[in-house]
Amino acid sequence: MFLADTHTHSNFSPDGRDSFSAMLAAAGRAGLDELTVTDHCDISKPAPFPAAERRAAFIKAAAGNRTGVKLLLGIELGEAIHDTARAEREIAAVPYDFIIGSHHELRGERDFYHLRYESEAECYQLLERYFTELTEFAAWGRFDVLGHLCYPLRYMSRFPVRILPRYEDEIRALFKALREGGKGIELNLSRLQPFGDVLALWRECGGEIVTIGSDAHRAADVGKHIKAGADILREAGFRYVAAFEQRRVRFEKI
Ligand SMILES: [Zn+2]
Ligand SMILES: [Zn+2]
Repeated sequence: MFLADTHTHSNFSPDGRDSFSAMLAAAGRAGLDELTVTDHCDISKPAPFPAAERRAAFIKAAAGNRTGVKLLLGIELGEAIHDTARAEREIAAVPYDFIIGSHHELRGERDFYHLRYESEAECYQLLERYFTELTEFAAWGRFDVLGHLCYPLRYMSRFPVRILPRYEDEIRALFKALREGGKGIELNLSRLQPFGDVLALWRECGGEIVTIGSDAHRAADVGKHIKAGADILREAGFRYVAAFEQRRVRFEKI
């Protein structure tokens, strides 16, 4: 079975630890076919790395790669709609295989990771704004897949917050825009949150492109839960997982 981890962070991310080579070695041990390193590039923050320097490190690691795992270069572009001119420059800086478009914070707010959640009602107020911004993000559309749709829920676990069925209309509209733009979504496995209902809705909306990523921030987590992710995808009715190279999608049987 084809196994790819398409969302990982190396030490070029402020919160990543390990080199491309260490990540590759871990991918080899995990039995992966492909590894895409998608370091953070958050538009609201200064670039954590010069893109050319990072690409040079990638080329060096790829040249010394004896693992049999294909190494691909991606980025996780955060909050692009907060400064689309800069986002365009980041995308064009070097050739990328894959761009994850993520939304970690709302306009005028800090990252969902840093927010304090005092009540369930406050969570839903934030989620309403989140889906409004995601709609704008999908319309901008200069990415390949929408990263971790359930990201805010990671930090709202004190409350029984659910996005479905409450935001079904918003998510349907979002999925329609993504599908029409030829984009995909991501099954992000950093927290094994219930995501089957979201995948089923994506499928119902005609969505086909789903990538699977561990969101590993260290080599030891590369490939974590990827097989379980393929099972989740199959259970939701998908027969293929998506993989990207040179920004072009390919479907692999799972
Ligand atoms: Zn992220
Ligand atoms: Zn990430």
